[in-house]
Amino acid sequence: MSDLDLTSLRTAIAKFIPQGRSGLLPALHAAQSACGYLSEPVAAEVARALNVPLADVYGVIDFYSMFYREPIGRTIVRVCTDPSCALLRADEVLKAACHHAGVEVGETSKAGAYTIERSTCLGLCNVGVAVNVARSDSAKSFAHVTTNDVSDLFEMRGREADDFVGGDVRVITALCDRSTATTLAEYEAHAGISALRKVLVGGMDQQTLIDEIKRSGLVGRGGAAFPMWIKWDGALKSEVEGSRYFVVNADESEPGTFKDRILMERDSHRFIEGAILGAYAIGAHQAYIYIRGEYPTAIERVNNSLAELKAHSYLGKNILGSGFDLEIEVRSGAGAYICGEETALFESIEGRRGFPRVKPPFPTEHGLFGQPTVINNVETLANVPYIVANGADAYRKFGTEKSSGPKLFCVSGDVARPGLYEVPFGVALRHLIIDLAGGVSGSLQAILMGGAAGSFATEKDLDVKLSFEDLRTAGLPLGSGAIMVFNQSRDLRDALLRLGRFFAHESCGKCYPCQLGTQRQYEILQRVASGKTQSGDVDRLNDVTWTMSDASLCGLGQTAGWAVQSAIKLWPGMFNHG
Ligand code: SF4
Repeated sequence: MSDLDLTSLRTAIAKFIPQGRSGLLPALHAAQSACGYLSEPVAAEVARALNVPLADVYGVIDFYSMFYREPIGRTIVRVCTDPSCALLRADEVLKAACHHAGVEVGETSKAGAYTIERSTCLGLCNVGVAVNVARSDSAKSFAHVTTNDVSDLFEMRGREADDFVGGDVRVITALCDRSTATTLAEYEAHAGISALRKVLVGGMDQQTLIDEIKRSGLVGRGGAAFPMWIKWDGALKSEVEGSRYFVVNADESEPGTFKDRILMERDSHRFIEGAILGAYAIGAHQAYIYIRGEYPTAIERVNNSLAELKAHSYLGKNILGSGFDLEIEVRSGAGAYICGEETALFESIEGRRGFPRVKPPFPTEHGLFGQPTVINNVETLANVPYIVANGADAYRKFGTEKSSGPKLFCVSGDVARPGLYEVPFGVALRHLIIDLAGGVSGSLQAILMGGAAGSFATEKDLDVKLSFEDLRTAGLPLGSGAIMVFNQSRDLRDALLRLGRFFAHESCGKCYPCQLGTQRQYEILQRVASGKTQSGDVDRLNDVTWTMSDASLCGLGQTAGWAVQSAIKLWPGMFNHG
């Protein structure tokens, strides 16, 4: 490395040095942006500057798929080939991109101009085929990409994903009463910040705020459906001395899920207001918003919103004259689905590989930096301002007794109007798919509920109510609200194969049942998809699923076989080719 390069590298990473190891991911992002890739001298300089062992720096670089130790193209084209985009011929787009660049998937063209990658879900399932194009100084996502668009993509031209929402996020006007509120002024014009004023100017104490959330019945929208107030209350009452932290999980990566991306891009002040209230409730003065690296527009919008909030004294020192201080920092992920697991996310913020921790201890006692921490996802927090401003009783008017409030559903696949739909808990699946999303294109074969770790529903399930209690009775998961629809022309073996590849790719490798189980599952699903099953393959799939479910450390491994199991139950003939 020349002196000039070293100088620019040091400039790029200088602001992360005071954070030490916790600054490692942002420093690596900055270093890669400045230097093109993370060569040995670059990694060594980052290690030296942040005082992190070089071996650890390499461990982190190798863990995240968006960091590169070898030279890569000046333009990286990432084509999503997960199930929803696959239905729209993503493989053909990927092939055309490779042909245009003259390379195979994963390779870099000879002159170093392009690298073409197969990407996991880019959170654009309703507007696929989705492609992300990244250069050192910018990144953009494109929607509705066809093989005819490929040459434009290489010039970063095309139908920018930002121009498309799809669906109708305004079903319940109380929560999302417009499709865009990208400025603070727009947000305040729709009663935004009134909850923050009510609490901080009105002098609502922490316990009263938590009790209101408790009365609302709000549970986490990320998939676990854990009562939100318990986390807040636990962190507030923790006897552990020292700082508390509040973390927003915006690492939305579940195939078929794109709700948090849209909330961050089009209504970001709302969930940030929820996060400020959450931080106040637990006494945190530092918060983080961890956004997946594949969401460049969301990262930009959220940063803009934070700057606006700070400029208006809704963030920073002495917010609204209340004496409450809070700083919020955005952290960008680097291509690791497992960082959506809460403790893996903490590890990532701390500058480590995203390995889930053994629980207990739980985050409210021992979370980020070993301190009491609350972590909530974007959609969950977007509910908070309404509850606080209007009261729990008003909120409970939406939904059912056991599933209060509204829920965002991400509908993709073979429907007339794929998109994001906000409905009160308790409406029928039929209403969502037929009335709102415009019905099935063709005749219905199956609906994958809950994303990659979900289960298949069929025609007979259309009248099931979308609530935690009804779905539990029907044996279907709500998950994060992903609904993928397949018509009769689709080969579900191909969808299963893609889910299998997803889990095999995203298993972090910390525990063997998942590390090996996801690989074995993928191998068997390859045989299933190619019609070359061997005697005993269904038994092997069953064994792998139950081993992963029983013995894996975290939710990824525990649920990696669920979609396959539901398919075996519904269509056993699909797995037996003789
Ligand atoms: Fe990692 Fe899978 Fe184990 Fe979770 S279950 S810790 S993803 S190997």
